[in-house]
Amino acid sequence: MTDVIVVGAGLAGLNCALTLQSRGYAVTVLEAADAVGGRVRTDRIDGYLCDRGFQLLNPAYPAVRRYVDLEALDLQPFTAGVAVAGAAGTTLVADPRRSPSLLAKSLVSGYVQPRELSRLAAWAAPALGPVHRVLADSDDLSLRESLDAAGVEGRLRREILEPFLAGVLAEDEGSTSAAFVRLLLRSFLLGTPSLPAGGMQALPEQLASQLREPVQLERPVTSVQGGDEVVVHTLDGELHARAVVLATDPATAAELLQVQAARMKGLTTYWFSTDEPPRSDKLLVVDGRRDGPVLNTAVMSNVAPTYAPPGKHLIQATTLHPSDAVEADVRIQLTRLYGTSAGAWELIVRHDIAEALPHHPPPLTHRREVDLGEGRFVAGDHRDTPSIQGALVSGRRAANAVTQQLV
Ligand SMILES: Cc1cc2nc3c(=O)[nH]c(=O)nc-3n(C[C@H](O)[C@H](O)[C@H](O)COP(=O)(O)OP(=O)(O)OC[C@H]3O[C@@H](n4cnc5c(N)ncnc54)[C@H](O)[C@@H]3O)c2cc1C
Repeated sequence: MTDVIVVGAGLAGLNCALTLQSRGYAVTVLEAADAVGGRVRTDRIDGYLCDRGFQLLNPAYPAVRRYVDLEALDLQPFTAGVAVAGAAGTTLVADPRRSPSLLAKSLVSGYVQPRELSRLAAWAAPALGPVHRVLADSDDLSLRESLDAAGVEGRLRREILEPFLAGVLAEDEGSTSAAFVRLLLRSFLLGTPSLPAGGMQALPEQLASQLREPVQLERPVTSVQGGDEVVVHTLDGELHARAVVLATDPATAAELLQVQAARMKGLTTYWFSTDEPPRSDKLLVVDGRRDGPVLNTAVMSNVAPTYAPPGKHLIQATTLHPSDAVEADVRIQLTRLYGTSAGAWELIVRHDIAEALPHHPPPLTHRREVDLGEGRFVAGDHRDTPSIQGALVSGRRAANAVTQQLV
C-alpha cells in the first residue's frame, strides 16, 4: 500500500505529487494517456512542434515562478503587444512600459484614442494592485457588464481588447468573471508570454522528471472508493492507499467523485507550414474586424525557431470550438490578415480541443473545496482558476489538505 495515489498527470496532479513527495510521502501517479501533461501536450510532426491547441507560458504567474525551473525551459518570448488587423491595415498596440515606441506609433496612427485608453487604464488599474484586492472583489461582474459600467467603449474595446480576450478566454460573449480577467491582465502586464524552446509539453515533463516513482502511463482509473483505506480501481486491478487525489479533467472528476462538472469551452488550432514567413516579427496578430473565424494567429517559428525545421516556418491560427468554419474560411482570413496568400500553406495538423478551459463566470470562486471526505481529494484548474497558474495552485492546495489528514 502506498501513502497517496494521484490520478492524472496534468499540471495539478504533478504539482500535487511533487509537494507530497517533498514531505516524505510515498506517491503513485496513474495517468490514462500515453504521456504526461494533460491539456499541455506537444505533437512532434516532421520536425515541427505543434502544441495541442495554441497556448502560452506566462513566466509572471506566481506559481510558475515558484515551482518551475524557467531557465531550463529556455523560454522564447513573444513581443509584449499585439498586431491588430483592422480596416486601415495592421496597427501595433503595445504595453507602453515595455515597448514605448510601439505605443507611440499606435497613438500617432489614431487607432487608440487617449480617452478610451484612460478609461481602460482605470478599469484595469486594480490588476496592478495587490492580488488580494482583486480576489476580494465582492461586486464581481461579467467582463461585458464590467466594461460597460466603466464606460470602456470604442475601437480599443471592440477591435483590440475583445478579440484578444476571446482567444485567451475561449469565449466571445464577455461572460467570464471580470476579476479573473484582471488577474490574467496582471500576468500579461508583469510578464511576457513565452514558449519553451522544446514546446509547451516541456513544462509538465520537467515536473514529472522530478518524481522518484515514474508516472504510470496508460493506466486509466475506472472507480474510486473512499474509506479509512481508499481503493482505486484500474482496468488491470486495484490499488490501496491512505488517500487519493483525483487530478483529472473536470468531466472525469465529476463522473468518479460526483463533484459538480464545470462547463467547458473549446478552441481549435490550425498549424500551417510555409517556406517564407508572412511576417518577420514576434507578435500575436488579432483580427480587429472579426471578419472570419480566426481569433488570433502568429508565426510561431519567429518566436521560437525550434518550432520548425531549418528553412521552414510554422504558423498557428486559432478559432473558437465548435465553429461552423471550414479550413477554406481560415485560409481566406489568414490571407487578408497577413497580406499574402495562405492558399498553398501546408496544413500539418488541426487540434480540436472541445474541453479546453472551464468556464469561470462571476463571482470569482478561486478556492473551491478540495477535501471530499473519506480520504478522497480533488485537484485541477476547475477548483481554482482556468489556467496553468490555477492548475499548479490547486495541486498544491490538495497536497496541503492531504498532508493535514495524514499527519
Ligand atoms: C488549447 C488550450 C489553450 C490554453 N491556453 C492557456 C494559456 O495560454 N495559458 C494558461 O495559463 N492556460 C492555458 N490553458 C489552460 C491550461 O492548460 C489548463 O488550465 C491546465 O493545463 C489544466 O491542468 P489540470 O492538471 O487541471 O488538468 P488536465 O491538464 O486536464 O489534466 C488531467 C489529467 O488527468 C488525466 N486523466 C483523466 N481521466 C483519467 C483517468 N480516469 N485515469 C487516469 N488519468 C486520467 C488526463 O489524461 C490528464 O492528463 C489552455 C488550455 C488549452 C486546452
